[in-house]
This record gives sequence, C-alpha cells and structure tokens, in this order.
Amino acid sequence: MIHSLDTSTVRRISSGQVITKVEDVVKELIENSIDAESTSIEVKLVGDGLTSITVKDNGVGILECDRPAMALRNHTSKLYDFEGLSRVETYGFRGEALNSICSVTESTQITTKTENDPVAILYMLDHSGKILHAKSSGSSPGTTVTAIKLFSNVPVRRQVAKKISSSIGKNVQNLLITYALAHPHIRFSLKHTYENNSKLKFNEGNWIQPAMKNTMDAVIKLFGNELANEVQFGVWSSKSEDIENGGNDNNTEEQYIITLEAILPNPDAVPHIIFKNGKTFIYVNNRPVTTVRGEIKNLVSMVKSVYNVIACHNGWTGNTKTPFMWINIKLPTWVYDVNVEPNKNVALFHHGERLIEAVSNLLEMFYDLNNQREVQNTDI
Ligand code: ADP
Ligand code: MG
Repeated sequence: MIHSLDTSTVRRISSGQVITKVEDVVKELIENSIDAESTSIEVKLVGDGLTSITVKDNGVGILECDRPAMALRNHTSKLYDFEGLSRVETYGFRGEALNSICSVTESTQITTKTENDPVAILYMLDHSGKILHAKSSGSSPGTTVTAIKLFSNVPVRRQVAKKISSSIGKNVQNLLITYALAHPHIRFSLKHTYENNSKLKFNEGNWIQPAMKNTMDAVIKLFGNELANEVQFGVWSSKSEDIENGGNDNNTEEQYIITLEAILPNPDAVPHIIFKNGKTFIYVNNRPVTTVRGEIKNLVSMVKSVYNVIACHNGWTGNTKTPFMWINIKLPTWVYDVNVEPNKNVALFHHGERLIEAVSNLLEMFYDLNNQREVQNTDI
C-alpha cells in the first residue's frame, strides 16, 4: 500500500535525491523493478537516453488504489516509519525516485498491470508526479516507466548529459552487469537506439544477459571461460566459527551472522588473466556499494594485497594491481546503514572490525598457503 511518510520521518531519511545523468534514472527504475520481483527487465534508450528512457519489467505491478500516489514525493509502499529503516530489505524506501524523475523530464509515463487487472493502464504524469490523464493500454502484467526528454527543463544538466552521451551505452551496460551479478536469475536487456533530426531511428546496439542459474554462470556468460576457469565461488560464514567457539558472545543483541559469498581468483590462477579482468563487484545484501569509502575500501585493499602476494608466488613480476573480485556481504539489515548518500551506495557498519575480520577469514579460506584447504563449492 503506497502511503505518505510523516514529516519527521521524511526529515530524518530524506536525501533530496538529485538526478544528474541518464544512468541515475536507469538505476532507480531497475531497482524498482527488482523490488517488484521481476524476472525480466528491459531497458531502452532512445537518443542516448535524452529522447527517452524506458524500463519495462514483468513484476507485480502497481495496485490501482496506489497509483494516484505512486510518483508523489516521499510516497512509498516500502517503509512506514523511521524505525522500519533498520528492517528494510528493498532497494527503495524513500519514495523519491519517481517524483524526482517526473520533476526533470518533459513528461513521464507509467503503464502498469497487476495479475488481477483485466487490462494495463497508461498514466501520464506532470512535473509534481500527479496523474494528468490515464488510458487503457494492452500490455502484459508488470510495469513500464518511460522518462521523456530528460532535463528538458534543466538546460545545464541536459548540455552536460549531451557532452558525455557517447559513453552512455557502455555505462548503462556496466550498470546492468553489476545488478545481473547480484540477481543472476533475472534476465536483463538493453536496447540503444539513436534518432536523427528527421526522426529516423538507428540501432546503436542490443545487449542481453539471460537469466542464469547462479552468479558463477553469470560470470561465465559475461566474462567468458578464460576468466571463469581462473576463479572460484566460496562461502565463509561466522556461523560455523560461532559453533566452533561455543558462541562466546553473551549479549544476544550483538550476536549476528556475517556471511561472505565470494568469487575470487584460484590460488594458482594465471595472474595476467585475473588482472586483465580486474573488475571489482562488492555488494551488501545484493546492494552494489562504492569501493572508495570506509570499510569497503579497506576490504578491497585487503583482497588486493593478499592476492598480489599470491600472484608473485605464481610468477607475476609486474606492479600491484586490482584482481577480479565479486563479494556479497550478507548480514542483518539492522547492523548497517545505507541511508548515508542520496544514491545509497555507501554503507556504514555498526561493527566494521567484524566485517574486516570476516574478510581475513574468507581470504585465509581461499589462500591458506600452508594447508591449501578446499574452498566450499556451493551454488548460490
Ligand atoms: P521507493 O522505491 O523508494 O518506494 P519510488 O519513487 O521509486 O520510491 O517508487 C514509489 C512506489 O511506486 C514504490 O514504493 C512502489 O510501490 C511503486 N513502484 C515504483 N516502480 C514500480 C515497479 N516497477 N513495479 C511495481 N511497483 C513500483
Ligand atoms: Mg525506488
């Protein structure tokens, strides 16, 4: 049920979300689609996203009673009050994205259908997110959002977006790859078309990541066997350690399990292949987080320095480099906070030292040179 958040909650959570580029719109819309349990998400950029951006999903759709409020500021179906923030498992919770998008486009359209609706309805929204008009539109269940003429009312931002438009296809594809590696069961696609002055359309490229069984299969599809043969999937969890130690923490409030799912280079991987694909994918409960701040930055440095020692053992004589790494940190929502930056990609941890300790355990599991212990091979 979409409702308005009370003013005090709004003040405490509000970020005044700013959309500054095409990628920001795509990120917010695909996060909404994932929150709506979609298994297929199609992104279409026309004119590098400046003519229109469309994200079509096959998720649960928006209930008819919720639609008048769907794009109003601070209206959300995902959070009820400030206390609920520590339990939120969805990407969204501020009820800001659709409203922000409406405010910086010429118009925004939302077509939606739940499984119980006889027909899909297309809504045209104004700058404040209110419905201007609605009409029926034969579409399958799910939601399609189209942002038309982004920044038409913010000329400076439109100029800047035009200047950097040549990299848009690649940037959006990388964004989709990041989410595909957290949600391998979802099919993602990107269609990028260019329209010239006479409205002739040119195809700038299509990209598809099919639904995969698990993240390792997604890695194979995205980066090929050359890399996939050199990395492996492993899980380290504080649960097994607690059992070994007989549970040494008496304060139940403070007890929780940290699980690290990781795809890291094999101990005997060919360093050149690992460094050539030196991409870093770090998530907290499937949410991509930035690697340039806080504990996550330290975590990446730890993996980097440990792997560089391994690489030297394997004959690497070049400079220190970042290896391929994919790590999903799983822990209860109440022990970290992502409501720090408007785009929620910075996570603050209540017990950062526990996370760092968990990472050193994970690295020992992968790289214990004395024991060469077997890495657990489990499907995600
Ligand atoms: P938030 O995601 O923070 O709740 P948004 O402005 O992104 O805020 O979306 C507002 C509300 O609209 C959501 O809470 C959800 O109920 C509904 N919604 C938005 N996009 C979708 C979608 N693709 N499928 C189903 N519901 C959606
Ligand atoms: Mg949202």
